[in-house]
Amino acid sequence: MTHFIHFLQDMVALKYAEMLSGLAFYDSLTGLPNRYLFNDRLARAMATAQRSRSGFALLYIDIDHFKRVNDTLGHDAGDELLRQLASRLKQSLRESDTVARLGGDEFVAVLEHVADARVAVGAVEKLLAECSGCYELGGSERKVTLSVGISLYPADAGDTESLLKCADAAMYRAKAAGRNGYHLHEPHRADQYRLA
Ligand code: GH3
Ligand code: MG
Repeated sequence: MTHFIHFLQDMVALKYAEMLSGLAFYDSLTGLPNRYLFNDRLARAMATAQRSRSGFALLYIDIDHFKRVNDTLGHDAGDELLRQLASRLKQSLRESDTVARLGGDEFVAVLEHVADARVAVGAVEKLLAECSGCYELGGSERKVTLSVGISLYPADAGDTESLLKCADAAMYRAKAAGRNGYHLHEPHRADQYRLA
């Protein structure tokens, strides 16, 4: 009996620890990895790329005019858009890629084994085709567009923080260029692109 009670106590403690770690590392709204888990995955991706002498692309993804969705359809519809977008982003990327929610309407993704700008741009064009467009929110259809910034490891930066800053700055350039498109941190690596 005493053994059984100890066993139960261990199981409860284990479940509780699992629950806490889930809360600490995953975004409760979308179920995606949060900023902390993402930073860890990004550091790991860098270590792997160094060992295998390969590279990867980092994407910074932000919804265009998300506030309008909250303002016109309500906060619940805004939450619903974040959940649906999270699901589309996951489906659009490969199993081995990581997509996370940093907070608000900002998402990030690591595309493993992407060494050059052309491959990264191809993946982003596919992502935009699949993740922007019509969403059904609170009973009404809403057209949603995204702006994406792309940085490349190791070409653009050697540490996680700088690489994120590069992708963030590129995303803001995509916004400044009219939104609904993407921008590379170093545009000379490929031409600047914008969806029609
Ligand atoms: P821009 O095209 O410049 O990105 O315009 P925007 O309206 O999307 O501006 P921004 O990205 O700054 O908007 C983020 C908004 O997201 C602000 C905040 O009210 C809202 N927000 C942040 N977290 C949540 C959330 O968990 N749920 C909902 N519904 N809204 C959120
Ligand atoms: Mg936004």
